[in-house]
Amino acid sequence: MLDFLLTNARIIDPESGSDFHGSMGVKDGKIDGLYPVCATLPSAKETIDAEGGILVPGFIDIHAHSENSIPCAEKLLAMGVTTAISGNCGYSAVDFKSFFAKFEKDGYPINQLEQAGHSILRRRAGQSDINAPATAGQKEKMKHYAAEAFSAGACGLSFGLEYDPGSSCEEVIELSQVAADTGRFISVHGRLGCADVLDSLREALNLAVLTNSPVIYSHLVYMFQGESLKKALDVITEYRRKKADIWIDSGMYTAYATFAGAPSFDEEIFLADESEILRLRAATGKYAGQILDKNKYIEMRTTLSNEALIYDPGDNSDIFNAYSLSDVMVSTDCIDYPRGQGHPQGAATYPYFFRLLVKEEQHLPMMEAVNRCTLLPAKAAGLETKGRLAAGMDADLVVLDWERLTEHADFPGKGDPGAPPSGVRHVFVNGCLSIRDEKRLQGVRAGYSIKR
Ligand SMILES: [Zn+2]
Repeated sequence: MLDFLLTNARIIDPESGSDFHGSMGVKDGKIDGLYPVCATLPSAKETIDAEGGILVPGFIDIHAHSENSIPCAEKLLAMGVTTAISGNCGYSAVDFKSFFAKFEKDGYPINQLEQAGHSILRRRAGQSDINAPATAGQKEKMKHYAAEAFSAGACGLSFGLEYDPGSSCEEVIELSQVAADTGRFISVHGRLGCADVLDSLREALNLAVLTNSPVIYSHLVYMFQGESLKKALDVITEYRRKKADIWIDSGMYTAYATFAGAPSFDEEIFLADESEILRLRAATGKYAGQILDKNKYIEMRTTLSNEALIYDPGDNSDIFNAYSLSDVMVSTDCIDYPRGQGHPQGAATYPYFFRLLVKEEQHLPMMEAVNRCTLLPAKAAGLETKGRLAAGMDADLVVLDWERLTEHADFPGKGDPGAPPSGVRHVFVNGCLSIRDEKRLQGVRAGYSIKR
């Protein structure tokens, strides 16, 4: 007897390339079978009529900062995300044993993986100066802490080189080798300030060549815009030709958020051309939602430097250009912001992606769009039972109501950055119904911590 039978769905599986009308059985957290229309259906404890909705694998957010945050995971789940890979941009859990223990004790709405963050390893090794390279002794300590995190279950190693510009090239390579030696992937938020902006990308992609390990280049359109994005796409293509094991993710926004003290909001840029300040919007704190002026900019760079700012370059064409490259995965870069503040990426990305790029602009075919949210990130993170619809795979599933599917979250000052989307009709996590008819089933926390 099945636990669930989902009938009357358009079933799309990116691995087999099949797109057909039929039903799916779920049992003990796994997909039990797929049945074309008119097939004899097994009996089930509960049958749910999908009413012609689109049944796809649960989305896998390859670049999140959810880190055991329940509000963050709830927003992801509301979009149909069933697995998030966190610990990105150099910042992660510190003690992995207690991190996973907390996850298991409290339960979590979605599945979660955690990387070891390079910046955290640096601090633990005693390097608190972001502008200084790690000493030989510190590097040894970092390698030790990284190995410790990997043996406790960390899935990869992340770098946030913008935030630790003093990290030497050697330090990055040596630590990456530790990740590679234990079969972990490496993710890179690149550096700023290279003589050639593309060297930041080359440094990251070279790690795949030097270590023979998969490298994920994080949130592409936050790193490159306009002409430099076009050149970055050429560099990526060049590395792909060399068969380097590289993976690229991108968000749906050109407007990116980070803390006000970050190097990307440097005075040399923003005070040299004050019109640039007008592209800055406070995402959190007392000015949340407001466009900055010079005085507020200076205040946020100094006394409010831990609050978040959003920089909006004001041109959406980069999104289309980035996703024109094959195999660019969708990611949110979500982070836990106070209610009503922050960036809409954590609550809007996936419905926005399907609405804009598939439904309205037909920029991507449906199968390809589903692939970028499911199978590709599953492969990048080495998740062999996720991102696919086939018997024996994990029953992480989403049923989309195509007509209704749209995002509602918007930037502070324009709307609510945490507003849930419409059209995400049902969501299953490990075979447990977690959203039904667009309503969250309260208290269901069916996610697993996935340790490597
Ligand atoms: Zn980042």
